[in-house]
Amino acid sequence: MSRTLLVTGGAGFIGSHLVDAWLARGGRVIVLDDLSSGRLGNLASSDGAVEFVEGSVLDQPLLSELCARVDRVAHLASVVGVARVVEQPERTRLVIEQGSRNVLEACKRRRLPVLLASSSEVYGAGHVVPLREEGPLLVGATDHARFVYARAKLAAEDLLLEADRGGATGWIARLFNTTGPRQDPASGMVLPALCARALSGEPLLVYGDGAQTRSFAHVAEVTEALLGLFDCPRARGVPVNVGAASEISMLDLARRVLRLSGSRSPIRFVEHEERFGAGFVDPPRRVPDLSRLAAMVPLRQPRGLDALIIDTLRAHSGQENPKTGAIPGFGALSSHGERQESVPS
Ligand code: NAD
Repeated sequence: MSRTLLVTGGAGFIGSHLVDAWLARGGRVIVLDDLSSGRLGNLASSDGAVEFVEGSVLDQPLLSELCARVDRVAHLASVVGVARVVEQPERTRLVIEQGSRNVLEACKRRRLPVLLASSSEVYGAGHVVPLREEGPLLVGATDHARFVYARAKLAAEDLLLEADRGGATGWIARLFNTTGPRQDPASGMVLPALCARALSGEPLLVYGDGAQTRSFAHVAEVTEALLGLFDCPRARGVPVNVGAASEISMLDLARRVLRLSGSRSPIRFVEHEERFGAGFVDPPRRVPDLSRLAAMVPLRQPRGLDALIIDTLRAHSGQENPKTGAIPGFGALSSHGERQESVPS
């Protein structure tokens, strides 16, 4: 009998890719999503093989009902994106903390294994990179709404660890920047925003001086890693970083998007405070130590940043043809092939 996975937040960016990957393994899927940031269109490629339930992780009776019909749960439902968190801190805390409590309660009752999507935000302003799971967390001051997300994710991690010690089975994936096709530019995530602006000829916004670095993982690699964790009993009960190890500054990322898209958009520098309010803190670097993940999950050679940018440009240009991979305008590059050029400085 094929296994059935419940994906909360499954109409979202990462959730919908996880749905596709689970279906490709021959499994069945139920998605629970309130469509607050997810879209039904993200599930279009699953050809009706998914049972979609519109509802919230705040609805405990609904969760109990769904958990009675599945073999395992991937809990991804969350408020996501700094802008949304800063605008809706109360909702952020409620959905992450109470939603995770509800999911874990329902799983505990049925003894279902559950994977929690946590975040690199829990490292806060941690400046000793690469960031290690056993290292210190430097979560920011309570008077800035941005850190509500990190504290709520930490609370959810604690709840999962408690449940795991109580005999349930749980995995914690601390996701670092994940990007690629289907990520909504409205989420405020940097790569889809840069790609959308490059393609429409608008200025590319770079916050601060653009020297801050991030590490970007392709969503396909992240979903493979999540499935790998599911397959690894040793990985339960400990947080595991999931992401990419290579780093790029935001200014270099904007330049690379311009080069690969052929766009003539200018780059415009914007102060963080202008967008996110006074007291905003942007960690200068956020690089994962991936040794725990690598010891648990067989990882493939990463596709690389150019392939990631090209896949995202294709998705935003509306020219994506997932069946043939043929994309007018970007046709010279295979989706897995890296064009070897150095990052502009
Ligand atoms: P996303 O916004 O595309 O997905 C979140 C999904 O949760 C959306 O479909 C949304 O509609 C749904 N949702 C929100 N509140 C809900 C509720 N109350 N009940 C049911 N569904 C609800 O974002 P994403 O990037 O796909 O993020 C997926 C998970 O990965 C989240 O838990 C996020 O915190 C985590 N994460 C993502 C990144 C990243 O770089 N994308 C980094 C770290 C952690």
